[in-house]
Amino acid sequence: MIYIGLVVLKSQEDLDPHHVGSRGLASAPEPRHPPKNIAIVGAGIGGTSAAYFLRQEFGPGVKIDVYESGTVGGRLATEAIDGRDYETGGSIIHPLNLHMKQFVDKLGLSIRAEVPSKMGIFNGKELTFEESDWFIVNFLRMMWNHGFNPLRMHMWVEGLLDKFMRIYQYQQFSYSFSTVERMLHAMNGDEFLALLNQTLEEAMLAHGFSQTFINEIVTPISRVNYGQSVRLHAFVGAIALAGAESGQWAVDGGNKRVCSGLLYHSKAELIPARVSNIALKTRPSKSGTITNFYELNYVGDSGSAHSLYDIVVLATPLHLGLSDISFSGFSPALSSHFPGHYHQTVSTLVHGRLNVSFLDAKRKASDFFVSEISTTDGEKLGISSLSCLDPVHITPGYTRPPASQTAVWKVFSPEPLTEEQLKTLFISREHVSEKRWLAYPSTKHQSVKLRPSSSITASITSVLSSGRRQQWR
Ligand SMILES: Cc1cc2nc3c(=O)[nH]c(=O)nc-3n(C[C@H](O)[C@H](O)[C@H](O)COP(=O)(O)OP(=O)(O)OC[C@H]3O[C@@H](n4cnc5c(N)ncnc54)[C@H](O)[C@@H]3O)c2cc1C
Repeated sequence: MIYIGLVVLKSQEDLDPHHVGSRGLASAPEPRHPPKNIAIVGAGIGGTSAAYFLRQEFGPGVKIDVYESGTVGGRLATEAIDGRDYETGGSIIHPLNLHMKQFVDKLGLSIRAEVPSKMGIFNGKELTFEESDWFIVNFLRMMWNHGFNPLRMHMWVEGLLDKFMRIYQYQQFSYSFSTVERMLHAMNGDEFLALLNQTLEEAMLAHGFSQTFINEIVTPISRVNYGQSVRLHAFVGAIALAGAESGQWAVDGGNKRVCSGLLYHSKAELIPARVSNIALKTRPSKSGTITNFYELNYVGDSGSAHSLYDIVVLATPLHLGLSDISFSGFSPALSSHFPGHYHQTVSTLVHGRLNVSFLDAKRKASDFFVSEISTTDGEKLGISSLSCLDPVHITPGYTRPPASQTAVWKVFSPEPLTEEQLKTLFISREHVSEKRWLAYPSTKHQSVKLRPSSSITASITSVLSSGRRQQWR
């Protein structure tokens, strides 16, 4: 559910910042008049789905402008290598992401054909786990090593997702929440809020999971999905674990097609410009009262300009280094930057041949079929994960090349890979491209109580726009 992470500024008077109720878009009471014009900042999945829903809500009479300083899709992005496109940002979608399912149907898109893959866990010296082709072998091996921990983890995550699904009911009845705390509370009482104030490790230990299971299985999952260890807070940690459930999927042709489709469908105007400032202004209304509106200042190809709006939706993170929008005229003042920072994940796509001996000294490359490798905290090379990518469109007869052949690999790492690291990982390289993402909030748990509203919104966005196989790739 993409909408949750958005900040909505509305121009109606007497806004009650703590309002929770139906048919309000964020924290405002029932609008007296439908808005005439709405600005959305950001054309990622958050902004484009906001445009779609706002068009449904207000009909053809409202003018919707979507401002985008980069590329439509935002953190849903692809990279072309050797004539084929590959996902370099958000790549898998969770099966319980009902909005993405609905969008794909509505826009006439389809789900990408699945290519079987094999998962492994690397501890810096060797593969400590390698998925078998046989379900029963995986099951027995897991039982032998970790008892009922894997099954209990599945049930724990399912239980949390079950509560999370309540968001769809709230949406169906047009409920909105003025703070993330209130929304989480509505979904699951104090339990979700409690998860924000402990690490994933603490929460799982408290639920009776073993430390070995956490180190060997849970840590690789949180590293591949959030580039962070089990010391991230438990809510986001649980979302990472949800990304390891089966049934994950992706959009044929690239996930970002949903964004361009929604934009087209909403008949919004795309304005390629960077929004620099939003100022709250007032003007007298016919009835003699004072009405608020927003002046949105932006810089586009033809220089600086401004436009006036009744509603502004901020569909981009406001943390340092991301959107850099200043706000004026608000009381209390709005800060340009949310507290906390975003975690850097560097996504390096390498078209080349993997150095299998680095992962398994005894194995011949032609016998190596592991395609998704997560790492434990002890891994020394400095990578979070390594996966063999399939193109966004699977043509009939496509098979993923074995490790002995040239293939497209994606490496997630907290820092850009050095030449030395690349040499260690690959025998040959035909093409290397690097994308530095400020990917998701850095959710390292601190001893002080976290305020969820500052760091959690993108994570909520993530699980519901998340998805394919066992992990985010
Ligand atoms: C490497 C990586 C892997 C991921 N893997 C997964 C995954 O497998 N599954 C999953 O569910 N999620 C995944 N995520 C997270 C997911 O991609 C994001 O949660 C989601 O795409 C965020 O969408 P958004 O619309 O909220 O923000 P964004 O996509 O960041 O969109 C915000 C847009 O606003 C624009 N913008 C910013 N400032 C301004 C401004 N001042 N003026 C105008 N425009 C502005 C930006 O250019 C951007 O396009 C991943 C993210 C990354 C980076």
